[in-house]
Amino acid sequence: MAGRLKHQCAGEGKRLLYTTIKARLYPTPEQAELFEKTFGCCRYLWNQMLSDEQRFYSETGTHFIPTPAKYKAGAPFLKEVDNQALIQEHNKLSQAFRVFFKDPEHFGYPRFKRKKNARDSFTASNHVFDSGPTIYLTDDGIRMTKAGIVKAVFPRRPRNGWKLRRITVSRTPTGKYFCSILFQYPAKTPEMVRPTPERTIGLKYSMAHFYVADNGAIPDPPHWLRASLEKLGKLQQKIARMVPGSRNYEEAVQKYRLLHEHIANQREDFIHKESRRIANAWDAVCVRDDSLLEINQAIKLANGLEPGFGMFRICLAYKLERQGKSLLVVDRYTPTSSQCSSCGYQMPEGVSYRQKSWTCPACGAVHQREVNAAQNIKEAGLQQVLRRPKSA
Ligand SMILES: [Zn+2]
Repeated sequence: MAGRLKHQCAGEGKRLLYTTIKARLYPTPEQAELFEKTFGCCRYLWNQMLSDEQRFYSETGTHFIPTPAKYKAGAPFLKEVDNQALIQEHNKLSQAFRVFFKDPEHFGYPRFKRKKNARDSFTASNHVFDSGPTIYLTDDGIRMTKAGIVKAVFPRRPRNGWKLRRITVSRTPTGKYFCSILFQYPAKTPEMVRPTPERTIGLKYSMAHFYVADNGAIPDPPHWLRASLEKLGKLQQKIARMVPGSRNYEEAVQKYRLLHEHIANQREDFIHKESRRIANAWDAVCVRDDSLLEINQAIKLANGLEPGFGMFRICLAYKLERQGKSLLVVDRYTPTSSQCSSCGYQMPEGVSYRQKSWTCPACGAVHQREVNAAQNIKEAGLQQVLRRPKSA
Protein backbone atom coordinates (compact mmCIF):
# COMPACT_ATOMS: atom_id res chain seq x y z
CA MET A 1 0.00 0.00 0.00
CA ALA A 2 2.79 2.37 0.92
CA GLY A 3 4.48 0.97 -2.19
CA ARG A 4 2.23 3.25 -4.17
CA LEU A 5 4.39 6.15 -3.09
CA LYS A 6 7.14 6.27 -5.62
CA HIS A 7 10.59 6.77 -4.23
CA GLN A 8 13.02 8.19 -6.68
CA CYS A 9 16.58 9.07 -6.05
CA ALA A 10 16.95 12.72 -5.12
CA GLY A 11 20.57 12.87 -4.06
CA GLU A 12 22.40 11.75 -0.94
CA GLY A 13 20.07 11.11 2.00
CA LYS A 14 17.13 12.56 0.11
CA ARG A 15 14.18 11.15 -1.74
CA LEU A 16 11.21 12.48 -3.65
CA LEU A 17 7.76 12.24 -2.14
CA TYR A 18 4.32 13.11 -3.42
CA THR A 19 1.41 14.87 -1.81
CA THR A 20 -1.91 16.21 -3.04
CA ILE A 21 -3.95 19.29 -2.31
CA LYS A 22 -7.64 19.04 -3.09
CA ALA A 23 -9.18 22.36 -4.10
CA ARG A 24 -12.83 23.20 -4.73
CA LEU A 25 -13.30 24.74 -8.17
CA TYR A 26 -15.75 27.46 -9.13
CA PRO A 27 -15.75 27.41 -12.93
CA THR A 28 -17.63 29.96 -15.04
CA PRO A 29 -20.50 28.46 -17.10
CA GLU A 30 -18.16 28.33 -20.12
CA GLN A 31 -15.43 26.59 -18.14
CA ALA A 32 -17.95 24.13 -16.69
CA GLU A 33 -19.12 23.36 -20.21
CA LEU A 34 -15.53 22.71 -21.27
CA PHE A 35 -15.07 20.37 -18.29
CA GLU A 36 -18.21 18.44 -19.24
CA LYS A 37 -16.97 18.19 -22.80
CA THR A 38 -13.60 16.92 -21.58
CA PHE A 39 -15.25 14.29 -19.35
CA GLY A 40 -17.30 13.14 -22.34
CA CYS A 41 -14.28 13.00 -24.68
CA CYS A 42 -12.25 11.03 -22.12
CA ARG A 43 -15.08 8.54 -21.70
CA TYR A 44 -15.52 8.27 -25.48
CA LEU A 45 -11.82 7.76 -26.06
CA TRP A 46 -11.52 5.19 -23.28
CA ASN A 47 -14.34 3.13 -24.76
CA GLN A 48 -12.95 3.40 -28.31
CA MET A 49 -9.45 2.35 -27.25
CA LEU A 50 -10.83 -0.51 -25.16
CA SER A 51 -12.98 -1.89 -27.97
CA ASP A 52 -10.10 -1.60 -30.45
CA GLU A 53 -7.81 -3.34 -27.99
CA GLN A 54 -10.31 -6.20 -27.71
CA ARG A 55 -10.74 -6.48 -31.48
CA PHE A 56 -6.99 -6.41 -32.03
CA TYR A 57 -6.51 -9.12 -29.45
CA SER A 58 -9.18 -11.39 -30.94
CA GLU A 59 -7.65 -10.98 -34.40
CA THR A 60 -3.94 -11.22 -33.59
CA GLY A 61 -3.63 -12.60 -30.05
CA THR A 62 -1.48 -9.65 -28.98
CA HIS A 63 -2.28 -6.60 -26.93
CA PHE A 64 -2.13 -3.15 -28.40
CA ILE A 65 -3.85 0.14 -27.54
CA PRO A 66 -3.88 2.76 -30.29
CA THR A 67 -2.88 6.30 -29.29
CA PRO A 68 -5.42 9.14 -29.08
CA ALA A 69 -4.11 10.74 -32.28
CA LYS A 70 -5.60 7.90 -34.29
CA TYR A 71 -9.13 8.87 -33.31
CA LYS A 72 -9.04 12.56 -34.00
CA ALA A 73 -9.80 12.34 -37.73
CA GLY A 74 -12.97 10.34 -37.11
CA ALA A 75 -14.01 12.37 -34.07
CA PRO A 76 -13.00 16.01 -34.60
CA PHE A 77 -14.62 17.07 -31.29
CA LEU A 78 -11.63 15.48 -29.56
CA LYS A 79 -9.56 18.41 -30.81
CA GLU A 80 -11.62 20.85 -28.76
CA VAL A 81 -10.39 19.59 -25.38
CA ASP A 82 -6.99 19.45 -23.68
CA ASN A 83 -4.85 16.91 -25.52
CA GLN A 84 -3.07 16.15 -22.24
CA ALA A 85 -6.32 14.76 -20.81
CA LEU A 86 -6.61 12.39 -23.79
CA ILE A 87 -3.01 11.22 -23.43
CA GLN A 88 -3.65 10.54 -19.74
CA GLU A 89 -6.67 8.45 -20.68
CA HIS A 90 -4.36 6.29 -22.80
CA ASN A 91 -1.94 5.99 -19.86
CA LYS A 92 -4.77 5.05 -17.49
CA LEU A 93 -6.04 2.31 -19.80
CA SER A 94 -2.51 0.93 -20.30
CA GLN A 95 -2.05 0.94 -16.53
CA ALA A 96 -5.42 -0.78 -16.02
CA PHE A 97 -4.29 -3.59 -18.35
CA ARG A 98 -0.86 -3.80 -16.70
CA VAL A 99 -2.27 -4.34 -13.22
CA PHE A 100 -4.91 -6.72 -14.58
CA PHE A 101 -2.29 -8.96 -16.20
CA LYS A 102 -0.14 -8.84 -13.10
CA ASP A 103 -2.88 -9.61 -10.59
CA PRO A 104 -6.18 -10.56 -12.27
CA GLU A 105 -7.76 -11.58 -8.97
CA HIS A 106 -7.56 -8.13 -7.43
CA PHE A 107 -7.87 -5.98 -10.50
CA GLY A 108 -10.73 -6.77 -12.82
CA TYR A 109 -10.59 -6.58 -16.59
CA PRO A 110 -10.90 -2.91 -17.68
CA ARG A 111 -14.54 -2.02 -18.20
CA PHE A 112 -16.38 0.27 -20.54
CA LYS A 113 -17.43 3.58 -19.04
CA ARG A 114 -21.09 4.43 -19.05
CA LYS A 115 -22.33 7.95 -18.80
CA LYS A 116 -24.74 7.02 -16.04
CA ASN A 117 -22.39 5.62 -13.44
CA ALA A 118 -18.98 6.85 -14.52
CA ARG A 119 -17.17 9.00 -11.99
CA ASP A 120 -16.48 11.93 -14.25
CA SER A 121 -12.90 13.15 -14.20
CA PHE A 122 -9.93 13.96 -16.33
CA THR A 123 -6.22 14.23 -15.59
CA ALA A 124 -3.58 16.47 -17.12
CA SER A 125 0.19 16.65 -16.60
CA ASN A 126 2.06 19.86 -16.12
CA HIS A 127 4.71 20.70 -18.69
CA VAL A 128 7.36 23.26 -17.96
CA PHE A 129 8.56 25.17 -21.01
CA ASP A 130 11.00 28.05 -21.25
CA SER A 131 7.99 30.33 -21.35
CA GLY A 132 6.70 28.81 -18.09
CA PRO A 133 4.56 25.90 -16.87
CA THR A 134 1.28 24.93 -18.55
CA ILE A 135 -0.46 24.49 -15.18
CA TYR A 136 0.13 26.76 -12.18
CA LEU A 137 -1.62 28.23 -9.16
CA THR A 138 -2.59 31.85 -8.78
CA ASP A 139 -3.79 33.46 -5.53
CA ASP A 140 -7.37 32.33 -6.01
CA GLY A 141 -7.29 30.03 -9.00
CA ILE A 142 -5.61 27.37 -11.12
CA ARG A 143 -4.37 28.01 -14.62
CA MET A 144 -5.20 25.11 -16.93
CA THR A 145 -4.34 24.56 -20.56
CA LYS A 146 -7.68 25.10 -22.28
CA ALA A 147 -9.86 26.51 -19.53
CA GLY A 148 -7.52 29.35 -18.54
CA ILE A 149 -7.66 30.47 -14.90
CA VAL A 150 -10.38 28.63 -12.97
CA LYS A 151 -11.42 30.12 -9.64
CA ALA A 152 -10.49 27.84 -6.76
CA VAL A 153 -10.42 27.70 -2.96
CA PHE A 154 -7.38 25.97 -1.46
CA PRO A 155 -7.43 24.34 1.98
CA ARG A 156 -3.64 24.91 2.14
CA ARG A 157 -0.90 26.21 -0.13
CA PRO A 158 2.12 24.34 -1.50
CA ARG A 159 5.42 24.97 0.28
CA ASN A 160 8.58 26.28 -1.29
CA GLY A 161 10.24 23.72 -3.53
CA TRP A 162 7.07 21.75 -4.30
CA LYS A 163 6.69 20.94 -7.98
CA LEU A 164 3.23 20.70 -9.52
CA ARG A 165 3.13 17.47 -11.53
CA ARG A 166 -0.49 16.67 -12.36
CA ILE A 167 -4.06 17.76 -11.81
CA THR A 168 -7.27 15.73 -11.81
CA VAL A 169 -10.52 17.62 -12.29
CA SER A 170 -13.68 15.82 -11.19
CA ARG A 171 -17.36 16.42 -10.64
CA THR A 172 -19.27 14.89 -7.74
CA PRO A 173 -22.79 13.46 -8.20
CA THR A 174 -24.03 16.58 -6.43
CA GLY A 175 -22.56 18.80 -9.15
CA LYS A 176 -19.51 20.22 -7.35
CA TYR A 177 -16.17 20.49 -9.12
CA PHE A 178 -12.89 19.60 -7.45
CA CYS A 179 -9.26 19.54 -8.47
CA SER A 180 -6.67 17.20 -6.96
CA ILE A 181 -3.26 18.75 -7.45
CA LEU A 182 -0.29 16.40 -7.22
CA PHE A 183 2.99 17.87 -5.98
CA GLN A 184 6.45 16.36 -5.81
CA TYR A 185 8.91 17.45 -3.16
CA PRO A 186 12.32 16.37 -1.87
CA ALA A 187 12.45 15.04 1.68
CA LYS A 188 15.18 13.80 3.97
CA THR A 189 15.31 10.02 4.30
CA PRO A 190 14.17 9.47 7.89
CA GLU A 191 16.23 7.50 10.39
CA MET A 192 14.66 4.07 10.91
CA VAL A 193 13.03 3.86 14.32
CA ARG A 194 13.48 0.48 15.98
CA PRO A 195 10.25 -0.48 17.78
CA THR A 196 10.23 -1.38 21.46
CA PRO A 197 7.29 -3.01 23.29
CA GLU A 198 6.73 0.22 25.27
CA ARG A 199 6.50 2.38 22.15
CA THR A 200 4.35 -0.04 20.10
CA ILE A 201 0.58 -0.21 19.93
CA GLY A 202 -1.62 -3.07 18.68
CA LEU A 203 -4.96 -2.25 17.07
CA LYS A 204 -7.80 -4.68 16.62
CA TYR A 205 -10.40 -3.72 14.05
CA SER A 206 -13.73 -3.38 15.83
CA MET A 207 -17.21 -3.14 14.41
CA ALA A 208 -18.54 -1.14 17.32
CA HIS A 209 -15.59 1.17 18.04
CA PHE A 210 -13.64 1.28 14.75
CA TYR A 211 -10.67 -0.13 16.65
CA VAL A 212 -9.72 -1.33 20.13
CA ALA A 213 -6.09 -0.91 21.25
CA ASP A 214 -4.08 -3.38 23.31
CA ASN A 215 -4.16 -0.90 26.22
CA GLY A 216 -7.96 -0.80 26.03
CA ALA A 217 -8.14 2.58 24.30
CA ILE A 218 -10.84 3.20 21.72
CA PRO A 219 -11.13 6.24 19.45
CA ASP A 220 -13.73 8.89 20.13
CA PRO A 221 -16.91 7.11 19.14
CA PRO A 222 -17.96 8.43 15.76
CA HIS A 223 -21.43 9.32 17.02
CA TRP A 224 -21.74 11.96 14.32
CA LEU A 225 -21.61 9.11 11.84
CA ARG A 226 -24.41 7.24 13.53
CA ALA A 227 -26.63 10.33 13.60
CA SER A 228 -26.01 11.06 9.93
CA LEU A 229 -26.62 7.45 8.98
CA GLU A 230 -29.97 7.43 10.75
CA LYS A 231 -30.99 10.47 8.74
CA LEU A 232 -29.77 8.78 5.58
CA GLY A 233 -31.85 5.67 6.34
CA LYS A 234 -35.01 7.73 6.85
CA LEU A 235 -34.43 9.60 3.62
CA GLN A 236 -33.91 6.31 1.79
CA GLN A 237 -37.27 5.00 2.98
CA LYS A 238 -38.97 8.24 1.98
CA ILE A 239 -37.50 8.04 -1.52
CA ALA A 240 -38.63 4.44 -1.90
CA ARG A 241 -42.23 5.54 -1.38
CA MET A 242 -42.07 8.39 -3.93
CA VAL A 243 -42.89 8.41 -7.62
CA PRO A 244 -39.64 8.29 -9.62
CA GLY A 245 -39.19 11.30 -11.88
CA SER A 246 -41.49 13.64 -9.93
CA ARG A 247 -40.10 16.92 -8.69
CA ASN A 248 -40.31 15.90 -5.04
CA TYR A 249 -38.46 12.74 -5.91
CA GLU A 250 -35.64 14.61 -7.64
CA GLU A 251 -35.35 17.00 -4.71
CA ALA A 252 -35.20 14.15 -2.21
CA VAL A 253 -32.57 12.35 -4.28
CA GLN A 254 -30.41 15.48 -4.39
CA LYS A 255 -30.79 15.83 -0.61
CA TYR A 256 -29.75 12.20 -0.25
CA ARG A 257 -26.64 12.72 -2.38
CA LEU A 258 -25.63 15.79 -0.38
CA LEU A 259 -26.00 13.95 2.91
CA HIS A 260 -24.08 10.99 1.53
CA GLU A 261 -21.28 13.33 0.47
CA HIS A 262 -21.31 14.97 3.89
CA ILE A 263 -20.91 11.59 5.62
CA ALA A 264 -18.04 10.64 3.31
CA ASN A 265 -16.29 13.90 4.18
CA GLN A 266 -16.81 13.42 7.91
CA ARG A 267 -15.40 9.93 7.70
CA GLU A 268 -12.38 10.98 5.68
CA ASP A 269 -11.64 13.77 8.11
CA PHE A 270 -11.87 11.39 11.06
CA ILE A 271 -9.58 8.85 9.39
CA HIS A 272 -6.91 11.43 8.60
CA LYS A 273 -6.92 12.93 12.09
CA GLU A 274 -6.97 9.61 13.91
CA SER A 275 -4.17 8.08 11.79
CA ARG A 276 -2.02 11.21 12.26
CA ARG A 277 -2.57 11.15 16.01
CA ILE A 278 -1.51 7.50 16.29
CA ALA A 279 1.43 7.78 13.88
CA ASN A 280 2.81 10.70 15.91
CA ALA A 281 2.25 9.12 19.29
CA TRP A 282 3.77 5.66 18.66
CA ASP A 283 6.93 4.21 17.10
CA ALA A 284 5.21 1.18 15.57
CA VAL A 285 1.63 0.06 15.01
CA CYS A 286 0.51 -3.57 14.67
CA VAL A 287 -2.64 -4.51 12.79
CA ARG A 288 -3.97 -7.75 11.39
CA ASP A 289 -4.22 -8.24 7.65
CA ASP A 290 -7.96 -8.88 7.73
CA SER A 291 -9.84 -9.15 4.50
CA LEU A 292 -11.45 -5.74 4.69
CA LEU A 293 -13.54 -6.38 1.64
CA GLU A 294 -15.28 -9.26 3.39
CA ILE A 295 -15.63 -7.30 6.61
CA ASN A 296 -17.02 -4.28 4.82
CA GLN A 297 -19.58 -6.39 3.05
CA ALA A 298 -20.64 -8.07 6.27
CA ILE A 299 -20.98 -4.67 7.94
CA LYS A 300 -22.85 -3.11 5.06
CA LEU A 301 -25.34 -5.93 5.34
CA ALA A 302 -25.57 -5.46 9.09
CA ASN A 303 -26.13 -1.73 9.42
CA GLY A 304 -25.15 0.09 6.25
CA LEU A 305 -22.03 1.41 7.94
CA GLU A 306 -18.96 1.45 5.78
CA PRO A 307 -16.16 1.97 8.23
CA GLY A 308 -13.16 2.88 6.08
CA PHE A 309 -10.67 0.83 8.08
CA GLY A 310 -8.84 -0.04 4.84
CA MET A 311 -8.21 3.63 4.16
CA PHE A 312 -7.21 4.10 7.79
CA ARG A 313 -4.54 1.42 7.37
CA ILE A 314 -3.20 3.04 4.19
CA CYS A 315 -3.03 6.44 5.91
CA LEU A 316 -1.30 4.92 8.92
CA ALA A 317 1.25 3.16 6.70
CA TYR A 318 2.45 6.27 4.92
CA LYS A 319 2.24 8.57 7.92
CA LEU A 320 4.43 6.15 9.88
CA GLU A 321 6.76 5.51 6.97
CA ARG A 322 7.54 9.20 6.56
CA GLN A 323 8.84 9.23 10.13
CA GLY A 324 10.91 6.05 9.66
CA LYS A 325 8.36 4.09 11.70
CA SER A 326 6.69 0.77 10.86
CA LEU A 327 3.23 -0.59 10.33
CA LEU A 328 3.59 -4.24 11.32
CA VAL A 329 0.98 -6.31 9.54
CA VAL A 330 0.16 -9.64 11.10
CA ASP A 331 -0.99 -12.57 8.98
CA ARG A 332 -4.78 -12.67 8.73
CA TYR A 333 -4.91 -16.30 9.86
CA THR A 334 -3.11 -15.62 13.14
CA PRO A 335 -5.59 -16.81 15.80
CA THR A 336 -5.60 -13.54 17.71
CA SER A 337 -9.10 -13.74 19.19
CA SER A 338 -9.05 -17.26 20.55
CA GLN A 339 -5.65 -17.21 22.21
CA CYS A 340 -4.97 -16.17 25.80
CA SER A 341 -2.52 -13.26 25.73
CA SER A 342 -1.30 -14.13 29.24
CA CYS A 343 -0.37 -17.82 28.90
CA GLY A 344 -0.81 -18.59 25.19
CA TYR A 345 -3.58 -21.15 25.72
CA GLN A 346 -5.64 -21.65 22.59
CA MET A 347 -9.41 -21.96 23.05
CA PRO A 348 -10.25 -25.11 21.07
CA GLU A 349 -13.72 -23.88 20.07
CA GLY A 350 -12.59 -20.29 19.46
CA VAL A 351 -14.24 -17.25 21.07
CA SER A 352 -17.49 -15.96 19.61
CA TYR A 353 -17.60 -12.32 18.55
CA ARG A 354 -20.77 -12.09 20.65
CA GLN A 355 -18.75 -12.64 23.84
CA LYS A 356 -17.51 -9.39 25.31
CA SER A 357 -15.26 -11.13 27.81
CA TRP A 358 -14.05 -14.63 28.59
CA THR A 359 -11.94 -16.46 31.16
CA CYS A 360 -8.91 -18.52 30.20
CA PRO A 361 -9.41 -22.06 31.54
CA ALA A 362 -5.64 -22.61 31.72
CA CYS A 363 -4.48 -19.58 33.74
CA GLY A 364 -7.72 -17.96 34.93
CA ALA A 365 -7.05 -14.60 33.26
CA VAL A 366 -10.23 -12.66 32.46
CA HIS A 367 -10.08 -11.08 29.03
CA GLN A 368 -11.99 -8.39 27.21
CA ARG A 369 -12.29 -10.17 23.87
CA GLU A 370 -11.16 -7.29 21.64
CA VAL A 371 -8.45 -6.01 23.98
CA ASN A 372 -7.01 -9.52 24.24
CA ALA A 373 -6.98 -9.79 20.45
CA ALA A 374 -5.22 -6.42 20.16
CA GLN A 375 -2.58 -7.64 22.65
CA ASN A 376 -1.98 -10.76 20.55
CA ILE A 377 -1.72 -8.62 17.41
CA LYS A 378 0.87 -6.43 19.09
CA GLU A 379 2.82 -9.48 20.27
CA ALA A 380 2.80 -11.11 16.81
CA GLY A 381 3.79 -7.82 15.15
CA LEU A 382 6.69 -7.26 17.53
CA GLN A 383 7.90 -10.83 16.97
CA GLN A 384 8.48 -9.88 13.33
CA VAL A 385 10.95 -7.11 14.18
CA LEU A 386 12.54 -8.51 17.29
CA ARG A 387 13.53 -11.64 15.38
CA ARG A 388 15.23 -9.52 12.75
CA PRO A 389 18.92 -8.61 13.20
CA LYS A 390 19.63 -5.02 14.22
CA SER A 391 21.01 -3.94 10.87
CA ALA A 392 17.69 -4.62 9.08
ZN1 LIG B 1 -4.32 -18.13 29.91
